[in-house]
Amino acid sequence: AVELSRVNKWYGDFHVLRDVDLTVARGERIVICGPSGSGKSTLIRCINRLEEHQAGKIAVEGTELTGDARTVEAVRRRVGMVFQQFNLFPHLTILENCTLALTQVKRMPKAQAEEIAMAYLTRVRIPDQARKFPGQLSGGQQQRVAIARALSLSPEIMLFDEPTSALDMEMVKEVLDIMVELAGEGMTMLCVTHEMGFARQVADRVIFMDAGQIVEAAPPAQFFTNPQHERTRTFLGQVL
Ligand code: ATP
Ligand code: MG
Repeated sequence: AVELSRVNKWYGDFHVLRDVDLTVARGERIVICGPSGSGKSTLIRCINRLEEHQAGKIAVEGTELTGDARTVEAVRRRVGMVFQQFNLFPHLTILENCTLALTQVKRMPKAQAEEIAMAYLTRVRIPDQARKFPGQLSGGQQQRVAIARALSLSPEIMLFDEPTSALDMEMVKEVLDIMVELAGEGMTMLCVTHEMGFARQVADRVIFMDAGQIVEAAPPAQFFTNPQHERTRTFLGQVL
């Protein structure tokens, strides 16, 4: 499980996360939405310590993130992340992108790492792209590589930060399809996305953030048909 309690964060004087409380159970799928600048990316980046919170508590599977680098390492072993801009290494092949952490961080023999990476590239339906470089792939294919790369490390929790926002419309579905499959397999997922169809289809809870706070959290049936807060209604009026 992921547990956040009274998490606060500031960028200088700017209070970006305000008393965020959130518990994500194993196998739960959370979609986070909200206006630009509301703190969605900051929130999920705090979960694997790409950003540091200054007050409150964040724990992943019982390990609390503290200043101790070992806690960060322990948490990152369990948490995979996919970014809006793919973040692939341009000078490495697709296969090398997927094996790098396995061979360098996990010290796995190259042949074994390649076998695992190929299995995930097959799962995201691009095994034939393995020898190419990121620049030779479409955005949708690159994002699927990024997902395969994250999965190769056998995470228990996956964080997605607007994984389809940089994609042309026709490629959004091929990435969402993979995410829907992952959700169906019971992966614990926190997804920042404005794909409300995806939220309806797979989310156990939809969270609406505004100005650094969780304003509303509810199952999609309730979230979309009967939002409790005016700010949620205004937001939904803009995105739906
Ligand atoms: P978007 O939908 O545009 O991605 P978001 O909800 O993900 O927005 P964040 O990226 O978490 O928002 O940013 C929240 C606020 O914090 C914004 O006002 C942003 O300008 C500010 N911010 C983000 N990163 C930094 C930083 N490194 N230093 C200072 N301010 C930052
Ligand atoms: Mg963001």
